[in-house]
Amino acid sequence: MMTPIYLDHNATTAVHPTVVDAMLPWLTQHYGNPSSVHWAGRAANAALEKAREQVASLLNASVNDIIFTSGGTEGDNFAIKGTALQRAEQGRHLITTAVEHPAVLETCRALERQGWQVSYLPVDSQGNLDLAQLESNIQPQTQLISVMWANNEIGNIYPLAEISVIAKARGVCLHSDAVQVAGRLPIDVQATGLDLAVISGHKFGAPKGVGALFVKSGNRLEPLMHGGSQERHRRGGTSNLASIVGLGKACELAGVEMQQNAVHVAQLRERLQQGIRRGIRGVFFHGAQQSDHRLPNTLNASFAGISGESLLMSLDLKGIAVSSGSACSSGSLEASHVMTALGVAPQLAQSSIRFSLGPTNTAAEIDYVIDELAAAVSRLRQISPFENF
Ligand SMILES: *Cc1c(COP(=O)(O)O)cnc(C)c1O
Repeated sequence: MMTPIYLDHNATTAVHPTVVDAMLPWLTQHYGNPSSVHWAGRAANAALEKAREQVASLLNASVNDIIFTSGGTEGDNFAIKGTALQRAEQGRHLITTAVEHPAVLETCRALERQGWQVSYLPVDSQGNLDLAQLESNIQPQTQLISVMWANNEIGNIYPLAEISVIAKARGVCLHSDAVQVAGRLPIDVQATGLDLAVISGHKFGAPKGVGALFVKSGNRLEPLMHGGSQERHRRGGTSNLASIVGLGKACELAGVEMQQNAVHVAQLRERLQQGIRRGIRGVFFHGAQQSDHRLPNTLNASFAGISGESLLMSLDLKGIAVSSGSACSSGSLEASHVMTALGVAPQLAQSSIRFSLGPTNTAAEIDYVIDELAAAVSRLRQISPFENF
């Protein structure tokens, strides 16, 4: 009856067919350990280093500055704890924002429990940071500023190049969780002036469980994974070779397809937003108003009077996958920390839905979603104990 429609690309994406093809030989024929010295190891190591070049190229980083990880969460933990442990003697203060992914927020909270001080910068009602406030939070003890490049829930893009100028002037190390930007918009870690940046494969067509951390040379991090001499002693453990090859291929493909994908999803996102505006009353859109200050694929809206969870389930019955709040906090009925940081009233925050589009979505899918959404919203509002629309 219905074909499934997937509008949850900020949670994860399908592995690109070309990426699967690139990976398969490294699971079957070429199963060597990249650390082994014999022919099997040498072939594996060559593939590992090719992938490193592909990742470095997407980020405009030096190959030696790329460390493979198990994904975004490990990358953020490594960047933040690695810096904190390395520099604990010099001061114990960090700056981050109230809208970070839990991979950053919970890492900072863990450090707080160990005696670190953390400033969580607020955002305004559109999700924007006040850079003067950021600067005024820098203290002599500050060791790290961590600001995400783009937000996973509302899509806001943060001005890392401007933040970098502030961080540099005060001699503070700058980390960015670039998970939502990698493979979707251009990233130039050198031009942007980052010291640390994190990407995750499964958000742009590589498998789950692989990612990379950029560490600008000269920045020392205390490793989290002690073990063998892999990744130049920075992360022990046998390399996840096939997935790393997949990450490299996804980076290469992104270099080619990124721009055209961004135009495509931006058009669909516009179509979705217009359709919602036209067909549904009592809608509030969240995040930056200017569309070029948001990821091209992300739309977050609240539908007054109904719960996001019920709407999500109604759409699910029609084969439409979206998310309410952040994927990581669904299951709990607490409003998302991002909605709270925007100052959205709890009831409206509960009704927020995130649509995150991908390159394989079509205009026909978006039109179907608009119709089903309007039907679900009016049905749910009829039984809503709150207001009438
Ligand atoms: C998905 C995501 C992460 C976590 O990445 P994993 O590879 O799933 O651990 C971190 N930060 C942001 C912004 C994300 O969207």
